[in-house]
Amino acid sequence: MAPRHLVIVGGGTAGWLAALMLADVAGRKGWGTKITVIESSKIGTIGVGEGSTAVFRQMLKHLALDEAEFLRESGATIKYAIRHRDWRRVGHSYDGPIDDPSLLTPGLALDTYAVAAGRPVAEAHVFQHLLNANRAPVAIKDGRSIPASPFHHAFHFDQARAGAWLRKKAKGISVIDDQVRSVETGEGGITALVLDSGARVEGDFFLDCTGFRRALIGPLGADWLSYAHMLPVNRAMPFWVDLKDGVEIAPCTTAWAQKNGWIWQIPTQDRYGMGYVYSDAHTTPDQAKAEVEAALGHEIHPRNDIAIDAGRLKSAWIGNCVALGLSSSFLEPLEATSIHGTIVQLMLLAEWLGHPTGQVLYNAAVARQVDDFRDFIRLHYVSERRDSPFWRDVAESHPQNVRDRLALWQTRLPQAQDFDPFPLGLPHLQGQLYTPVLDGLGLLNRAAAKAEMETSPALRDKTRMAHASLVRDYTRAASQCAPHRAWLGSL
Ligand SMILES: Cc1cc2nc3c(=O)[nH]c(=O)nc-3n(C[C@H](O)[C@H](O)[C@H](O)COP(=O)(O)OP(=O)(O)OC[C@H]3O[C@@H](n4cnc5c(N)ncnc54)[C@H](O)[C@@H]3O)c2cc1C
Repeated sequence: MAPRHLVIVGGGTAGWLAALMLADVAGRKGWGTKITVIESSKIGTIGVGEGSTAVFRQMLKHLALDEAEFLRESGATIKYAIRHRDWRRVGHSYDGPIDDPSLLTPGLALDTYAVAAGRPVAEAHVFQHLLNANRAPVAIKDGRSIPASPFHHAFHFDQARAGAWLRKKAKGISVIDDQVRSVETGEGGITALVLDSGARVEGDFFLDCTGFRRALIGPLGADWLSYAHMLPVNRAMPFWVDLKDGVEIAPCTTAWAQKNGWIWQIPTQDRYGMGYVYSDAHTTPDQAKAEVEAALGHEIHPRNDIAIDAGRLKSAWIGNCVALGLSSSFLEPLEATSIHGTIVQLMLLAEWLGHPTGQVLYNAAVARQVDDFRDFIRLHYVSERRDSPFWRDVAESHPQNVRDRLALWQTRLPQAQDFDPFPLGLPHLQGQLYTPVLDGLGLLNRAAAKAEMETSPALRDKTRMAHASLVRDYTRAASQCAPHRAWLGSL
């Protein structure tokens, strides 16, 4: 049965995405659900610069929200890829573009061809060309915007500004500024929330979007599954860096490997949201700050030093309560999996809320989603670097499942069957994301790719021609698109 009163606690990105998306579903399905958001201006939100995935844009389109308005009002920028500096070895860089050229060339193994030919697989991605040229995703002709590709790009944004915009767009929601002090429970789970003001809020379904506090799901006895033994970093030190006037904004997130972790750099239209994600088993906060300052060549002013307990809830849905966002899971932000995960989880919920087996299906899907993200992130650490105790420890501790997959991909390149479809056909990690990372790290086997290509010379020739034509078209398309920063300023 659909909920009559859905209570969302938390007014961060997770809470407002939930309000927007579930209000839309309730309206479409005629549920007649009342939605209340309880947020606390005394606590505030996590407040970091964030990179999204393509799913964020799909969500905007689905809700008929205007992308140009979002970019303008939240100061967001375009993201085509993640640029990985110094991961394979110091001085080496590779990009992981997020579009999927295989959708345009069914039956052709573009990646295998590229690896066999000794060319970077990212070359067949239109997003790589747009990134190389620092271009907007559109060309402007006679005052009209012409999209450069059929793929959804992603965004970088400042969490506070994007949150304020999402909040403005959520219509018909009751909002209470107060703090949940305690949770009343009965047979089916939560019956009411007691607030600091003494008010009592009853509901029949609750979303815990209270971030690391887990104010609702915690009292229900939720168990945390830690990934600390699988992921090597456990602290994040965010800071901001000014964006210089007149300098182009590269439309990518930069993940820059250091001696004890890595620095993220996320451009918005006004500044870079940056941070050092590091291992406190290998360095101290003071040393970490000094390491960043030496890398950047200037002083930084850390805004925080957050402990990361990487992992997820064993069950994100307990009784009549679902945890979303940071209260449900958290991983280092290397592949921008957090907001992506939240949006996909809301899509699952939209389908399974009120369904007799919804809870079981949902918990299994979310567990799989976050475990898969964990394994993909861990793979990024398979490096040639041995220049610090951190990298030497990492090299000796790759989990068995990561080793097994790498061994398989030494015999052939990743294939579609290596990645089970995600429930309801929703977006998830697949070969198009894995292959550029494996290629960038030098983990694909050229001899195996050549052998595969040689099994069918006719197919190889067809693939070679398709590859050449894509590269030519994309180079031309990128040269015709508007410069990224100027285009953002024109919106
Ligand atoms: C260092 C770092 C970098 C990150 N980078 C990325 C990235 O690049 N890409 C990405 O996708 N994600 C990233 N994330 C994750 C991303 O920030 C979160 O997924 C996203 O902001 C959602 O946060 P949230 O809404 O769950 O929590 P928060 O932003 O912490 O919001 C919690 C809300 O709950 C309210 N609240 C808390 N307790 C109570 C209570 N008792 N009563 C009432 N209200 C309460 C607060 O007032 C607040 O409104 C990053 C996170 C960190 C820590």
